[in-house]
Amino acid sequence: MVRKTSMRSKNKRVKRNTKSRRIKRKIKGRRIKRKTKSRRIKRKSRKNIKLVGGGGILEITENSNETEFEQSHAVINYGLGPISTYNLVNCIAIGGMFELDGKPGTFLTHESPLDYLEQQTKLYQIKTRLDTHKAIITQIILFRIDVPALDVYGSGLTTQKIIELMIDYSGSLFSLPPIIHTYSCDISTLRCGKAIISPTEYKSEITPIRITPLNTTDLSIPPTPRPSETFIAIVLNNANGKKIYQCPICKSITGTAAPLNPEDITLFTHKYDCPNKFKIPKEN
Ligand SMILES: [Zn+2]
Repeated sequence: MVRKTSMRSKNKRVKRNTKSRRIKRKIKGRRIKRKTKSRRIKRKSRKNIKLVGGGGILEITENSNETEFEQSHAVINYGLGPISTYNLVNCIAIGGMFELDGKPGTFLTHESPLDYLEQQTKLYQIKTRLDTHKAIITQIILFRIDVPALDVYGSGLTTQKIIELMIDYSGSLFSLPPIIHTYSCDISTLRCGKAIISPTEYKSEITPIRITPLNTTDLSIPPTPRPSETFIAIVLNNANGKKIYQCPICKSITGTAAPLNPEDITLFTHKYDCPNKFKIPKEN
């Protein structure tokens, strides 16, 4: 895959991280994977991406470089640069284009079908943020695989059913029927589609699935300092009965990841001037 020059070295490291993570994921399982992921994203964001919010939603203003992000995160770009997912392997990416003060912008999410509730939460949060800014959403695009995996999940859901459910959800959330873009994988050459959105186009590109050994250079990055102050969060349940938090001051609501990793404050998005912004949520 061709990299944009100025972000080349930075992207390289991020890319290697993903590869190592993929391997780690298989060995250690999912919770550890998620934790590692959000830390890494945080580090990356310190380097070249402005991290405004949590809940895995990065808000950036990037006008030229392509910004890639990983599964279970999301990006809103108030600039002209393209935003893209890593390889989608059976995953669902939902994004859109908007206009804010006459300028175009884009957003994109990327989740495994199993995490469709998380994807709904992120889309809801993105819409809330864009509504706050009075942005006008002009297009919604849903990237889906051509031949979904046949696994049947807990409640009898299949990838195909989840895709249909997400088409309905995004259509009603944004009051816009999503444009369906189908990507494919070529397992014989270990390649899969990635989703790319810019203000002028949306597309998928088939790129090699990343599987290379752990690169140790990222171990030299100092660990993120932990905030020491805490606040008591309001405990709520989302529509599906899963625990979420609400800030007692700014009333912001988290996704389901925040109660699982309260010390990862990027998972709790507050209003920009909220005094709880850099504090760890605790339960009463
Ligand atoms: Zn707050």
